Formats: sequence, structure tokens, C-alpha cells
Amino acid sequence: MEHGIIVGERATRFGEGAVETESETKPRPPLSGEPLALELVNTTFVHGGLRGSLVDALATPTELDLWLEEHAEAFPRGPVRRASGPATASHLAGFRRLREALRELSRACVAQEPYGERAVAAVNRAARLAASWPEIGDGTADAPADRTADGPVVRWAEPDPRLVLLGAVAVSGVELLTGPRRRDVRACAAPGCVLYFVRTHRRREWCTPACGNRVRVARHNRQRRP
Ligand SMILES: [Zn+2]
Repeated sequence: MEHGIIVGERATRFGEGAVETESETKPRPPLSGEPLALELVNTTFVHGGLRGSLVDALATPTELDLWLEEHAEAFPRGPVRRASGPATASHLAGFRRLREALRELSRACVAQEPYGERAVAAVNRAARLAASWPEIGDGTADAPADRTADGPVVRWAEPDPRLVLLGAVAVSGVELLTGPRRRDVRACAAPGCVLYFVRTHRRREWCTPACGNRVRVARHNRQRRP
């Protein structure tokens, strides 16, 4: 039986090594709680306001594991639990390719343009990695993490757990960009901000209150200028 990490506990880590300090000093994406697809897109963000610099929070396999750990609750539990050993450069490349495709589709969605063929193909390809089916378990050997209460055991076609998680992000993108919520996808209206979010109330214009405040302060300063 495979031993992986257990979700839902603060101390869990993706991979065997501790997450390096490099990631702890680097700013983390300012926005959270969006659908997984936008959470992935938002790993590229501007830190430090209008004259800030672009930060890529997904630059190393270690940072990928940190991101997966931060979002563990949003992923299917079985693959999260089985994702033992550190992420590889190939995992990172896969997530970065998907991020690029989802960013392009999010941009098109906001602009109400047709989705680009190449980006669609990339997301659809990744979505297949999430293929799963339910089975009747034998009752004893199945780890509880693979099972919902009294439900079936879930199996995934893809043996690499991180690729299943990649698939889950792609599925989140497919659902968001084809479903009714696609009309609420917004790019933050603050100058210099590159984040996307799903509008939760009608008047929301900013990714975070920080962006809204920055714009209001800039407006105020312009008005006070003689
Ligand atoms: Zn913003």
C-alpha cells in the first residue's frame, strides 16, 4: 500500500523535503478562494502596486508543491494523499503550460472573444487526466481518503497523482469557462494588476480590497492636484 500525505492537517507537506525558505520570503498570491483554474492563473501577479514587479509563484517544483498543499482541500483527496515524493520539472512544466492556456482563455472570456483553438486543446488534453470512475471496494484495504462516507471507491486512470491534480485544475477551467459563471469572470480593473476573479457581487471591480484602495487613493490624489 502506498503511503502519501494526509489532507486536512496543517502539518502536511507535498513531497518529502520541507518547503524551502526561498518560497517563504517570496510574496504569495494576494487573492485566494477562486476556482482552481483562476487560482492557477493568479500564481502570476504584481507585487508592490503600480510600479511593482511581476512575481511568478510557480517557478520551481518546490513552489508547485507549496501551491498544491495550499489548495489541497479543493482537490480530490485520493491523489492528494498519494502525491508522495517531490514534484519534478516535468510536473512543473505541465502546470505552467496549463496556466498559460487558462490565462489566454480567461482573457478571451472577459473580452467576450471566441476561445483560441490551441488553448482549448491544451486545457481539454489536461482535463482527460482527471478521468475517474467509481468501484465497489473490498471494504478493508481501501484507504478512507479514497472514499466518501458510505460511497464507492474512486479510481483514476492516470497513475501519477500530480497529473490527476493537473487534470482537476483543467476540469475546473472547463466548468468555469463553459458554465453560467463564465459571465462573472473578471480581470481586476486596477492599473497594473493582472489577476482574474469570479465576481461574487454585482459591483465588485477589484481582485482584493488592496487593489480597490490603491485606485481610490490614486483618484483622490488626482483630484487634489491643483
Ligand atoms: Zn487587483
